[in-house]
Amino acid sequence: MTSAAWPYDDLDVAALLAGGWRPTPFHEVIVKVHQRCNLACSYCYVYTHADQTWRDRPAVMPAEVFTATAQSLGRHVRAHDLRQVRVVLHGGEPMLLGAARLGRLAAELRAAVPAPCEVRVGLQTNGVLLGEAALRELRRHDITVAVSVDGVAEDHDRHRVTHAGRGTFGAVSRALALLARPEFRGGFGGLLCTVAPDTDPVACYQRLRAFDPPAIDFLLPHANWGAPPDPGAGAWLVGAFDAWYDDPDPVPVRLFESVVDLTLGGASRSEQIGLSPAALVVIESDGAIEQIDALKSAYPGACATGLHVERDELDAALAHPGVVARQLGLAALGEECTACPVRLVCGGGHYAHRYRPGTGFRNPSVYCADLRLFIAHVRGRVLADARALVGAVHR
Ligand code: SF4
Repeated sequence: MTSAAWPYDDLDVAALLAGGWRPTPFHEVIVKVHQRCNLACSYCYVYTHADQTWRDRPAVMPAEVFTATAQSLGRHVRAHDLRQVRVVLHGGEPMLLGAARLGRLAAELRAAVPAPCEVRVGLQTNGVLLGEAALRELRRHDITVAVSVDGVAEDHDRHRVTHAGRGTFGAVSRALALLARPEFRGGFGGLLCTVAPDTDPVACYQRLRAFDPPAIDFLLPHANWGAPPDPGAGAWLVGAFDAWYDDPDPVPVRLFESVVDLTLGGASRSEQIGLSPAALVVIESDGAIEQIDALKSAYPGACATGLHVERDELDAALAHPGVVARQLGLAALGEECTACPVRLVCGGGHYAHRYRPGTGFRNPSVYCADLRLFIAHVRGRVLADARALVGAVHR
């Protein structure tokens, strides 16, 4: 990376702090407990994109690194008097560790964090290794399970395949049927679906909806100006949004709810949209404290902070320019976004999608046109409903 590719050399964190700006403490920690995966999904940013640092890290997070992570989180919670934090046991595929070991990690985390802070422990999994015994163990340790599934069988099986190239929809469907059972339902965190613009968004939403999840989130495939995405994501989001908005019994969809809330002047709960500070940090399996791992799609080492959980406090990461840039709101956007009429809703889109080789991250999202189309559509529908409601009240 050349120095020109790093856009926040001009970001004077000391001056910001002296001027009264304060970082938002981390409320979510993603812990890479297992670095390998039992699947070979075509779009995976960990293994198939620019950054290949997974090759140099331990496959399994060593016990002493996990202990340092738990204790570091405990000190962060105490220093900022946090009342709730969320920890996501992540990979690779975290289920490769086995449910019993994941349970012990959750117990260690909770023991390290002082009361009255609530530690919500979740798991992001491809679902293939989720059997009844594993779910019972996860439930016993109050670990919620979010599963990645990409819509209907044919679409899912195009991308989410084993190393031998076999589709995994059947295995994931069996896991989701288990999760829907009353004894496991309380531990079902939701579904995560990567958008594929060449698929039918209505069929996708309806397929996900039929799994009866407590929540759904749609993720745009990671891309940037140096590695642009396939066209059509905006139209796809419009189609899926309409299916959701017109559903008489809709499931919460984080991206859609965030755009509606932002349109009405509220805040975002999604990394993909809005200007809410990103309060999330990653601990890699070797103990490196890193920025969101979606940045792996930009260039090698894009997530690095140079900090390590056995040497440094999480607070040190709060002063890293890349982390500060994701908490600064409008001040971190480039000229085009700052002048944009939908900047308060869009917020420049996902940070990783703004990357352009040579100029860095102070750019519009590579999905800019898609986001404008989608936001305008949501605004149109929400405002039409608001007008109809006002008219009804007057009548
Ligand atoms: S990415 Fe595009 S739509 Fe979003 S704020 Fe920037 S210019 Fe506006």
